[in-house]
Amino acid sequence: MASITLKNLVKKYGDGFPAVNDVSLDIADGEFIILVGPSGCGKSTLLRMIVGLEDITSGDLLINGVRVNDKAPRDRNLAMVFQNYALYPHLTVYENIAFPLRLNKGKYKEEEVRKLVTDAAATLELTDHLDRKPANLSGGQRQRVAMGRAIVRQADAFLFDEPLSNLDAKLRGQMRAEIAQMQRRLATTSVYVTHDQTEAMTLGDRVAVLKKGVLQQVASPRELYEQP
Ligand code: ADP
Ligand code: ADP
Repeated sequence: MASITLKNLVKKYGDGFPAVNDVSLDIADGEFIILVGPSGCGKSTLLRMIVGLEDITSGDLLINGVRVNDKAPRDRNLAMVFQNYALYPHLTVYENIAFPLRLNKGKYKEEEVRKLVTDAAATLELTDHLDRKPANLSGGQRQRVAMGRAIVRQADAFLFDEPLSNLDAKLRGQMRAEIAQMQRRLATTSVYVTHDQTEAMTLGDRVAVLKKGVLQQVASPRELYEQP
């Protein structure tokens, strides 16, 4: 569990206009923040800065009040869920979910791995599919495996980069409900990038609107979408 604080975050690629420009935001422990804005406004860059995949040009990033600007991704204990699933095709569902636990050699006993993986699989209704390879799963199931990988690490926060945008409408609705349910159960701090207003309405405690790298507005979904 974690609070995430962005203080005057700036990201410049080369000497162009900042992709993220002086963004400040306090994300409370357990809060689900939706990040919206037009293509190219800096959403992915911001997520990648938080998770540690992109250097911070200036400003501070705090997790539970501790400055983490210079910490490697593995030391931030955040889990990113990508839109393209990023599963290992040669590994079974079980081994895909277990993967993050095996990175830290010896940290988890095999027994603990089994418990964490089977619990995550149960949460995501993947119990019957643990021996399958990703090629033999539906799109929704693959997305669930990707989420299982985030859950199993017991990360302090989840970062979602348009996780449902490659799915058809029916599946998207189903997954949206599943993420909402998962959030109620786990109450993990989440930052979720989407273009989809329904996702923002269903999942978000607050919605942050980015435009050309600048934070324009932070409001509840109701305030944002139901104002006259
Ligand atoms: P979004 O996720 O909202 O579509 P991005 O964060 O991907 O926006 O991009 C923000 C801006 O930064 C865009 O102008 C994009 O072209 C630029 N940008 C993103 N990644 C790079 C990069 N690796 N090198 C140079 N410019 C980049
Ligand atoms: P869902 O809507 O639950 O994601 P689908 O409607 O796509 O799944 O598929 C229904 C069932 O068919 C699933 O439970 C899945 O186990 C199975 N299935 C889907 N695609 C494949 C595949 N490529 N190989 C084997 N089984 C599949």
